[in-house]
Amino acid sequence: MKQTGQPGPPTDPIIGIDLGTTNSLVAYCDERGPRILEGPDGQRLLPSVVRYNEAIASVEAVGQEASTHAVEHPQNTVSSSKRLMGRSIGDLKDDLDYLPFAVVEGDHNTARIKIGKHLLSPQEVAAVILSELRGWAEATLGTKVRKAVVTVPAYFDDAQRQATRDAGRIAGLQVVRIVNEPTAAALAYGLDSGTANRVSGVGKKEDGSLSLSTKLNPQACASESQSQATNHQPPSQTLAVFDLGGGTFDVSVLRMMQTEQGRIDQVLSTAGDTHLGGDDADRMIVELIQKEVRAQFGEQIEFPASTRQAFRNLAEATKIRLSNETSAQIEVDLGTDGDGNARVYQRTLTRDEFEEMIGLLVDKTIRCCEDALRNAKCKTEDIGRVVMVGGSTRIPLVCRRVGELFYTEPYTALNPDEVVALGAAVQGSILAGINRDMLLLDVTPLSLGIETMGGAVSKLIMANSTIPAQATEMFSTYVDGQTNIKVHVLQGERELVGDCRSLGEFELKGIPPMPAGLPKVEVTFLVDANGVLSVQAVEKRSEKRASIQIVPNHGLTREEVDRMEAESYEHAAQDMTAHRLIDLRNQARLDIRAIEKQLAKVGDEMDADYRAQVENNVAQVKIMADDPGADPDRFHEALDKMDQSTVRLAELAITITLREEQGA
Ligand code: AMP
Repeated sequence: MKQTGQPGPPTDPIIGIDLGTTNSLVAYCDERGPRILEGPDGQRLLPSVVRYNEAIASVEAVGQEASTHAVEHPQNTVSSSKRLMGRSIGDLKDDLDYLPFAVVEGDHNTARIKIGKHLLSPQEVAAVILSELRGWAEATLGTKVRKAVVTVPAYFDDAQRQATRDAGRIAGLQVVRIVNEPTAAALAYGLDSGTANRVSGVGKKEDGSLSLSTKLNPQACASESQSQATNHQPPSQTLAVFDLGGGTFDVSVLRMMQTEQGRIDQVLSTAGDTHLGGDDADRMIVELIQKEVRAQFGEQIEFPASTRQAFRNLAEATKIRLSNETSAQIEVDLGTDGDGNARVYQRTLTRDEFEEMIGLLVDKTIRCCEDALRNAKCKTEDIGRVVMVGGSTRIPLVCRRVGELFYTEPYTALNPDEVVALGAAVQGSILAGINRDMLLLDVTPLSLGIETMGGAVSKLIMANSTIPAQATEMFSTYVDGQTNIKVHVLQGERELVGDCRSLGEFELKGIPPMPAGLPKVEVTFLVDANGVLSVQAVEKRSEKRASIQIVPNHGLTREEVDRMEAESYEHAAQDMTAHRLIDLRNQARLDIRAIEKQLAKVGDEMDADYRAQVENNVAQVKIMADDPGADPDRFHEALDKMDQSTVRLAELAITITLREEQGA
């Protein structure tokens, strides 16, 4: 029965979707606030599982039905497809043994799921889930849904984000914005902190105050609160969002500010691992069971795909039980052996044993928290609140360790399964213009720059810059008459091209021939709100321009990001020296060229001693420039000495030029 006084169906609504590794959800936010949209049976979570018909690879079941019967159809039931999206087969080596369905190599090294004789892309599987959720939304809202905000882990690279967008397109949804999951959680949290807003309309702050600032730890960000007290700055709070789901882990440090224009959430840093989550804990229990079963019933015992799937279900159920109880009973009936003897495996797993098993896994999450704090230039005591997101944050050890790190009890008031979808819906409402007083600022995970002379990287946008971000820098040519310039775009934290990842390159052609250093090439980097990078180069005198949009085939894996970050710390000093030497060599080359031109022109009018002195200084600099192991400080000194000694030469050159002009 329809309630009277209810508003009609929204026009062209933007829904929010949390496309999870294990479960997915859909939510919608209007003036009344965000809410989860339920499925036909009142279910709020859709297991991210699809079963296909083996013969024709058509969809047979989606969600709970597919998940419940996965044991019977292990080879044609696809779960965890999010782990495969936008990744090459090489990236997935570690997962393949664990997945009950077959994954093979497709075009361009991509991973393809093999169902019978058919190959499916992970995006197609994700599209089935998105389509199902779209159906739930259309049935609940009573209108056609064409647009969605979809969340991804903060460390998803370009390829994975692009794959998510493609999955949306296959499902007939325009993905109007990709939002990082922790950012979405912060958005949902912001709403939850102001209960009054829900009643009076989302985000309408009646008294202009942010309830967060009064609710949160008063010691948080001492320096900030001091500056607020003296400068009457708007209240701001720093919080961490700790998101441990089934397959991925993210932690982000965010600043929430209440300004006169509304609330601003700014992501200061993110860290994480696209390969860490509750599935790993399940896998550890499965390995324990398999090891003990073999020890009890013989090493030769086989575990067909259906048994492995049953072990997974059992492991997950055991893990979940241990979140509430201190021990759990495991029992596996393996049927009879060749002699007709029953084979039943039984054991009790205590919470202590489980905690010891997953200790290293939890350690990893804590190390990521420390990285995120360091990148955000925050101390643990600056964090006013730690918001827990994702099903695996229900594991007591996880909560305890996070609490110990941040000296504060983690905030678990929001349902950790629903937070992200609610936040995505809020973002949707902002984009739809329903919720106007919020602004979301996200960050770039890695620095972006271009190659300059000698193999150095000049960074235009630094890691953890707020997006959308734009940066412009002027460059010039090194060779007289150069008419083409190659712009090589790179991503990474290191100083040299060889140590960064190449994202693409393009050529700016048709520059009129000019002496080296004269063309003014303005290079502009723009990272849009979805994290997509466009680079434009314009030669200002001729207005010649060229541009590129970077959508790499395979972006960075999380491991690559980790490695690149670690290497940048490790090699920072050595890299800086190498970069400085490249800069000095480039400078020396330009200066020597100018000096030699002047010497050729006015050398005959110089006194011999002075000329010898200049030539000697130039020779010294050339020796330094040719020495790969030169000491940068001594090189710098030699360059300064040379430049200073040529002041008189430059004056002489000007005088002679003037004389010539007057004589002419
Ligand atoms: P998510 O990716 O956020 O949907 O989280 C799913 C993960 O949370 C799966 O690995 C679940 O097994 C795990 N999970 C859900 N509930 C619990 C619980 N009560 N205790 C431990 N893990 C849980």
